[in-house]
Amino acid sequence: MYDYKGLNEECGLFGIWNHNEAAHLTYMGLQSLQHRGQEGAGIVASNNEELVGERGLGLLTEAISEQSLESLKSFGHAIGHVRYATSGNKGIENIQPFLYHFYDMSVAVCHNGNLINAQSLRQELEEQGSIFHSSSDTEVIMHLIRKSRAATFEEALKESLRTIKGGFTFALLTKDALYGAVDPNAIRPLVIGQLQTGEYVLASETCAIDVLGGEFVRDIHAGEYVVINDEGVRVESYTHETTTAISAMEYIYFARPDSTIAGKNVHAVRKITGKRLAQESPAAHADMVIGVPNSSLSAATGYAEELNLPYEMGLVKNQYIARTFIQPTQALREQGVRVKLSAVKDIVHGKNIVLVDDSIVRGTTCKRIVRLLKDAGANEVHVRIASPEFMFPSFYGIDVSTTAELISAHKSPDEIKTYIGAESLAYLSVDGLIESIGIDEEEPYSGLCVESFTGDYPAGLYDYEARFNANLSERQQAFLTSNKQYFDRKGNQYV
Ligand code: AMP
Repeated sequence: MYDYKGLNEECGLFGIWNHNEAAHLTYMGLQSLQHRGQEGAGIVASNNEELVGERGLGLLTEAISEQSLESLKSFGHAIGHVRYATSGNKGIENIQPFLYHFYDMSVAVCHNGNLINAQSLRQELEEQGSIFHSSSDTEVIMHLIRKSRAATFEEALKESLRTIKGGFTFALLTKDALYGAVDPNAIRPLVIGQLQTGEYVLASETCAIDVLGGEFVRDIHAGEYVVINDEGVRVESYTHETTTAISAMEYIYFARPDSTIAGKNVHAVRKITGKRLAQESPAAHADMVIGVPNSSLSAATGYAEELNLPYEMGLVKNQYIARTFIQPTQALREQGVRVKLSAVKDIVHGKNIVLVDDSIVRGTTCKRIVRLLKDAGANEVHVRIASPEFMFPSFYGIDVSTTAELISAHKSPDEIKTYIGAESLAYLSVDGLIESIGIDEEEPYSGLCVESFTGDYPAGLYDYEARFNANLSERQQAFLTSNKQYFDRKGNQYV
């Protein structure tokens, strides 16, 4: 059966045109995007005649061997993908880029995000005779492109991009060009860069351009696509029905701190969220502030700076353990085997601590960390979250797509405080978040997607709508009724 959950969640994309080390540079670009996905990786390269690919499971270094990379050495163009782990569907067949060989052309495609009308499109396509190979949404766009009667590949791509809905970015490679595309709300990011030697690259985040010593050229805005070929780079729009709503979760959690999204550096934004959180919810009588490595460290420094409190390293993360690491068994966990995160006992013992984390989703991580600190002798633990209550599922590609799994959909901050065993708990306000990110009011950067905090879905819900409405919790319903101010954006369901 078709999995209800989107299958192409948060991922990293990279592409490069016309460089004699295209595959190697793609590998390096992907390495800097590894935080966006550790389940699998792939590279497809082209030499103006044929397209060939290598892909595998796990981290990039596990997925693509030196030998595989060597086999792509003579190819001048490439795209690559790192894939985020989602439940189920962990097979090699879902690792991208997908490479299609048709009688008249070959196309490689990779995708970041989630298509919210993929299920209904797939049903329509199957009724018309299409046969799907994988359970991935990405196949849908390829079917749409091939079914189109448009005269050129570019026109067919535009038509298909207008048909799909959700939060997405794509990178596609043919023997003639490298293409990139961004959804009509720019929920997921994609940028263009230029290397010192003049070649153009595409990447999910600017950090991938920086590691190659390149220059940022521009963000690809809502509803735009880019064509990079031997003639240079050309940015066009496939739709003008756009409302910019960049995913706030990119700033809060996903992106690397050295990346810049829509002109805002991620570390700087996180630091401001920490400062704002300190203004909104100062913790009295604290001895120190500590952050949860890695994504919360920036916010924790902002919190500490604002209140003139010492910022300390109270937790240490083992940097060599990937998401796919072998979990200790329940029995070993009960014995206290904690391989991923450790408390620095000499620092936290007997102290009143402010623990800053970027978000609480299911609540299990925070509960575990509070326990870790208390076991290490911490006196009081005051938890401060540098984002608002994560109350609504996200269907735009961050792998949190059911209400049931969200602790804030069911419990109040006070109840969660008790659940995680903290002395106090406070969240950043929605306005605090929006103002901290501070996206310029001027077009094209007009807004943010804060759907998980407000239930405002700028790209709509489509295939997910019935289930979303049927599963609304009491807390969610109460929030939607009392926070109408968040529901005036074009395309949302509740105006
Ligand atoms: P939990 O509350 O146990 O679900 O874990 C929340 C922690 O996971 C946060 O502190 C984040 O650092 C991280 N996180 C936030 N959003 C996501 C996401 N969509 N997928 C995976 N981890 C996330």
